Amino acid sequence: MPMTSRSRFVTFWSVLALFLAVRFAAAQEPPIVLKASTLLDGKGKVLHNTIIVVAGGKIARVGGNVPKSALTYDLTRLTVLPGWIDVHVHPTWHFDANGRLAGVPPGPTGENEPKQQTALAGAANSWKMLAAGFTTVQSLGSPLDKDLKDAIDRQGLPGPRILTSLEPIFGRGDATGTPDELRAIVQQHAKDGADVIKVFASGSIREGGKPTLSQEQLDAICGEAKKAGLRTVVHAYGPSVRMASQAGCTEIEHGLYATEGDLGFLAEHGTYFDPQAGLVIQNYLDNKARYLGFGNYTETAFETMRKVLPEFQQLFRQAITTRGLKVIFGTDAVAGAHGRNAEEFIYRVQTCGQEPMDAMVSANSLAAEALGLQNRTGSIAPGLDADIIALDGDPLKDITVVRHVVFVMRGGRIFVNQVTGQAK
Ligand SMILES: [Zn+2]
Repeated sequence: MPMTSRSRFVTFWSVLALFLAVRFAAAQEPPIVLKASTLLDGKGKVLHNTIIVVAGGKIARVGGNVPKSALTYDLTRLTVLPGWIDVHVHPTWHFDANGRLAGVPPGPTGENEPKQQTALAGAANSWKMLAAGFTTVQSLGSPLDKDLKDAIDRQGLPGPRILTSLEPIFGRGDATGTPDELRAIVQQHAKDGADVIKVFASGSIREGGKPTLSQEQLDAICGEAKKAGLRTVVHAYGPSVRMASQAGCTEIEHGLYATEGDLGFLAEHGTYFDPQAGLVIQNYLDNKARYLGFGNYTETAFETMRKVLPEFQQLFRQAITTRGLKVIFGTDAVAGAHGRNAEEFIYRVQTCGQEPMDAMVSANSLAAEALGLQNRTGSIAPGLDADIIALDGDPLKDITVVRHVVFVMRGGRIFVNQVTGQAK
């Protein structure tokens, strides 16, 4: 008996010692230091010749001395900034082995392949976006996102932080969906784990973009979401833009045929606005053969898209000159566009005349604020997650350097590092 209790005693102490050793090792994990000569803080400021100290996945401090035993990465030849945020993507959309559109739920265009193929394509697109500098994305409309998000958050799949709406709520432009029914749908989404509610208040632009939800219906959806603590993102054209803002919805997507007065209304009501300046439509036009024949991707639809592209660009110019309007960065990335999300910056700056710094902020602190993540990401400040990227060049001088993301850190983990090995 004395032997047994002694060995138990020994076991207890050795387990405790091991436990403490592991804890000690974790606490001793060396901090990471990123040396920067040009640092955009995500809020519109440029800092020079400074360091970012990263510990435990977070930004511990900016500036000061390099701590002892730190792992130092020299990013002084680059421009360092917060990881970008794309507030509108569709990671499961992709082209299948025959080069045709696939993974587009719900509806007749979707489910033309086994679900595991769609899921794997979603994983591949997530990695492409992370590698392209997008450390946070908002996915607007796929029930498969829940598993994708779990694979990234819990199982270590490399990808951006994903916020998802799960299935969107469609307005059908008829009497279906009483306010009570719509409120129940919102509650169900909240229960199912949606981070945000995506609503179609207008039809597709390929079909004219007519309103499909009444003011009363929008009031019900956005009002109920607010009660449940959820944001709302509304696909809207023309009159639906102002109606969605009136209903207290959080963010408007697309917005074509909104008037100057409507944009002013959004600014007054603090509604975030995400008009696309080129990538999504140009990507459709470039990949016409791969889309043609699915759902509403008809010859006429492609003619419509060709026609509305300059109209979207005109809307974008109007949006950025509307005083106080919070224009955020979202690409609506569909099949063919993932990993090329940053092309949208180039349309916004080169084609539509946005200031490069405003374009960066629209995908950093302003987008973070729109997503309710301003205390987690979107700027370089102590306490925030270490979501940090570096570009080979200065985007304030040449916006096309957004194509050259050579360093990506998300939550303190380095996923891309093409810095080491460069000739000095
Ligand atoms: Zn979309």
